[in-house]
Amino acid sequence: MNSTVDTKCVQAGYTPKQGEPRQVPIYQSTTFKYDTSEQMGKLFDLEASGYFYTRLQNPTNDLVAEKIAALEGGVAAMLTSSGQAANFYAVFNICECGDHFISSSSIYGGTYNLFGVSMKKMGIECTFVDNDISEEELQKLIRPNTKCIFGETITNPTVNVFDIEKFANVAHKNGIPLIMDNTFATPVNCRPFEWGCDIVTHSTTKYMDGQAVSVGGAIVDSGNFDWMAHAEKFPGLCTPDESYHGLTYATKFGKLAYITKATAQLMRDFGSIQSPQNAFYISLGLETLHVRMAKHCANAKAVAEFLDKNDKIAWVHYPDLENDKSHALQQKYLPKGSCGVIAFAVKGGRDAAIKFMDNLKFASIVTHVADAKTCILHPASHTHRQLSDEQLREAGVDPDLIRFSVGIEDVDDIINDIKQALECI
Ligand SMILES: *Cc1c(COP(=O)(O)O)cnc(C)c1O
Repeated sequence: MNSTVDTKCVQAGYTPKQGEPRQVPIYQSTTFKYDTSEQMGKLFDLEASGYFYTRLQNPTNDLVAEKIAALEGGVAAMLTSSGQAANFYAVFNICECGDHFISSSSIYGGTYNLFGVSMKKMGIECTFVDNDISEEELQKLIRPNTKCIFGETITNPTVNVFDIEKFANVAHKNGIPLIMDNTFATPVNCRPFEWGCDIVTHSTTKYMDGQAVSVGGAIVDSGNFDWMAHAEKFPGLCTPDESYHGLTYATKFGKLAYITKATAQLMRDFGSIQSPQNAFYISLGLETLHVRMAKHCANAKAVAEFLDKNDKIAWVHYPDLENDKSHALQQKYLPKGSCGVIAFAVKGGRDAAIKFMDNLKFASIVTHVADAKTCILHPASHTHRQLSDEQLREAGVDPDLIRFSVGIEDVDDIINDIKQALECI
């Protein structure tokens, strides 16, 4: 279907045939029935495609994954139980014990822990780099066992924009893919594949769901990375898998190799599928994603401009502001607008931040972000509260940083709420 991203939000993925349900049906079934033992056996050997057990594949999940793949302009996608699972599988699908990869240090805190602590225990080493690193410096960090580069289109919670082309250039010069978490931008505002990224992940928990009802994730493959051209680096894709009678994913499945391996091998062995019910909620969210993102961005820009002019505010970081350090990258990669999230600080540091937050009337204090309802979080008091001020700065999170997730309410009401809370400090 050759339509724009707005139309794909509404229409892509599921096209009912005569007499079938108009809305994506929820296949709430763990298993699927076959007439002969042989038919079922072929599915287990990956000789035929079809459903047999929801841990590996489910029709509802596949319809929603297909919509997300269409939105990103990819060839295939899979849903996972969370964004954490998506980022883990995306990297682990091509990295094994003894391997190394590079990640931007400006990433979601949960991903930072996953890469720096848990995957290290599995023998996979991650080097974290600043988003501002030069191509030359980045090149020096590539080792023979480096298997991918990872970054976030817009970083959570610091709202920096990632220079996709710079990182893609270095990755491709070294025969490795660029993987990007596109959660905050969504494919409505940025499609990283158009700039050279190879694999995209999402926490669908955020804007895709949009209403804070279900935790989920997705991995999308562009189909552009030629695994066989670098076969020595990717034995998992380019040499026989003994757990499937010796089939080789890259030769048997071509452009679908990466997602097929992640589904048939990683999902089979590790689990963490998204429930079909949750996939259905994501599907409902996707139908209005383009409408909501436009409103989130318009509201956030007005709120950021208000904060920028207010003398009780110490600093504001929002890529769409002309004076922002990410503005040039926002103009290049996110011309429709970045997202609804703003990072800022009130004068007076930690104490003033807490007083401000406690006095907000409808902007609620929640761990969530990127939701229809305006919400707020102070990482130093909440998600990162185990860290000292010094450790916070090392992680790129200022102790006074407030993450403000602008919703789709009337923007005057949001600004008035901020105004009255600022008057209390
Ligand atoms: C929330 C988030 C994640 C983790 O997703 P979950 O669905 O909470 O597991 C990963 N990346 C980014 C950018 C996020 O905002």
